[in-house]
Amino acid sequence: QEKSTGLNLFNSYAQLPEVLFSRLSPRPVSSPTMVIFNRELAYQMGLDPEAMEGSEGVELLAGNQIPEGADPIAQAYAGHQFGHFNKLGDGRAVLLGEHRTPEGKWLDVQLKGSGKTPYSRQGDGRATLGPMLREYVISEAMYGLGIPTSRSLAVVSTGERVFRERPLPGAVLSRVASSHLRVGTFQYAAAWGDEETLRRLVDYTWNRHFSHKDPGKNKAHSLLMAVIQHQASLIAKWQLIGFVHGVMNTDNMTISGETIDYGPCAFMDRYHPATVFSSIDHNGRYAYGNQPTIAAWNLARFAETLLPLIHEKEASAVEIAQQSLEEYSRLFRKDWLKGFRRKLGMIHETAEDIKLIEDLFQMMEKKKMDFTNTFRSLTIKRMAAEEKTVVTKSAVDTTTKEEEMERWIQRWNHRLEKENQSSEEIIALMKASNPAIIPRNHRVEAVLESAVQHQTIREMEKLLEVLKDPYAYTEEQENYADEPSASALPYRTYCGT
Ligand code: AMP
Ligand code: MG
Ligand code: MG
Repeated sequence: QEKSTGLNLFNSYAQLPEVLFSRLSPRPVSSPTMVIFNRELAYQMGLDPEAMEGSEGVELLAGNQIPEGADPIAQAYAGHQFGHFNKLGDGRAVLLGEHRTPEGKWLDVQLKGSGKTPYSRQGDGRATLGPMLREYVISEAMYGLGIPTSRSLAVVSTGERVFRERPLPGAVLSRVASSHLRVGTFQYAAAWGDEETLRRLVDYTWNRHFSHKDPGKNKAHSLLMAVIQHQASLIAKWQLIGFVHGVMNTDNMTISGETIDYGPCAFMDRYHPATVFSSIDHNGRYAYGNQPTIAAWNLARFAETLLPLIHEKEASAVEIAQQSLEEYSRLFRKDWLKGFRRKLGMIHETAEDIKLIEDLFQMMEKKKMDFTNTFRSLTIKRMAAEEKTVVTKSAVDTTTKEEEMERWIQRWNHRLEKENQSSEEIIALMKASNPAIIPRNHRVEAVLESAVQHQTIREMEKLLEVLKDPYAYTEEQENYADEPSASALPYRTYCGT
C-alpha cells in the first residue's frame, strides 16, 4: 500500500516514554471526499499525487485506513491558556507518524478532526470544513510569504455533520510539520513525567531539530538557546508582515520555530498595535503589539521545565536560564530592526533609522493606514520613479496627498541617498520584503463561503495561486490587494470550531 502512495512512515515519537502519548486510531468517518489536495507539497514530500488523490489516499487522509508504517498516537501536552495552566493533549488530532522525505527529512503527518481521544475533555474530537479550509489557506499563504510554518496536505470532508451552534459539515485536515513538539510538551513532561522522561524528551528533540549543532556541555541549556533563537526569528517575521496569531498559549508554541495552530489568527489591515481578532481575547493579551512579549513569557515557561537539567543547583540553573532569556529580546530586536530597514530599502545602519521607522508607525496609526498596502505603496512609488517600470493602477495611492506623509517620504528619500545601493537594488530589496498581497480577511471569508455554501473551491484555488508568490507584484495580484470596506471591520475570528 505505502508503495503506491509514496508514504514512508515511522513513528519515532511513539518510542518515547508512554506518559507522553496515547496509542489510538483515528475514528472512521462515513463518506470521505477530497475537498482540496496540495499537489505541490505532495511533490515536495515525494508522494504519488495520483494515488494520494484517489480512493486509497482519501481513505488514509480521512483516517479510515491506517497506512503501513504508521503508529497512530495522540500526543499529551500541557499549556498555559491565556495564562492559566491546564493539562491538555491532542483532543481532536492523531499523529500517524513521521514521513521520511526523499532528502531524509522527517515530517509529522497529523490528522486534525479525527475523532475523540483520551485528551478530548468535553470536546467531540471533530473539526468543521470552514475552519479547516481556513487553516489550509493561511498556512499555505504563510509558506508563500517565507515564514516557517506547518503546512496543509489536504482537507477531506467527512460526510458527517458536526454540531456547533448549528450543524456544520465535518472535515479532516492533514497537517504536515517538522514536528508537533511544543513548549507544552515539555511542561507536560516536567509536571507528569519523571526526570528521565524529561531527559529523553530533550535528547529526542535535540536529535530531531538541532542535531547539526554542537550540544556543548549541557544539552538542555543548548536546547533552550536554540529555541530562543528560532522563536525570536519567527516572531520578528510575524511582526514584519502584520500577522496576528491570536492564541499564543504555550501549547501552541513550537520547539521547531514553525508557526502552528491556525485558529483565530488573521492579518492586520489597518495598522494598530492593539489589533486583536479573536472573539475571546477580551483583554488583548495576544494583540499584534504584545506578541513579542508573550513569546518571551512563553519561553520563560519553557526554561522553567528545563531547570533540573540545566544545573543541579536550582539557583545556578535559574541564573543561567535568565541570562539566556535576555538573549531573546536582543535577538528579536535585531531581526525586527533589520527587517523594517529592509522593508524601507535600507541595508546599512544609521542612527536615524529607528526614529524614521517609529514615525511611520505613528502616522500609520493616527491615519488608520493599511499596514500591508503602506509598504506596498512605498515599494510601488520607488518602482514608478524608475522609468523602466510599468506603473500599474495601484501606484495611484492616496498616501502622498497627506502633507505629513509627504514630509516623511522626503526624509526617507534623503535617508536612501546615504545607501550604497543602486536604485534597482533598493527596489529589489523592498519587493522581496513587502508582500504585494496577503490573505486578506474579507478575501479569505469570500472563498470560504464559496467552498462551504456553494461547494466550489475554484475561487480558493485562484487565491492560493496568487499567494504562492506574494512578492511578485503582478497585475493579477492587484485584484487581491483591496482593503476591506468599513462595514467589514472590525473583523472577528473564532477558535475551536
Ligand atoms: P487550541 O485552542 O486549538 O490550541 O486547542 C486547545 C485544546 O483543545 C487542545 O488540546 C485541542 O486538542 C482541544 N480541542 C479543541 N477543539 C476540540 C474538539 N472539538 N474536541 C476535542 N478537543 C478539542
Ligand atoms: Mg492548539
Ligand atoms: Mg486550534
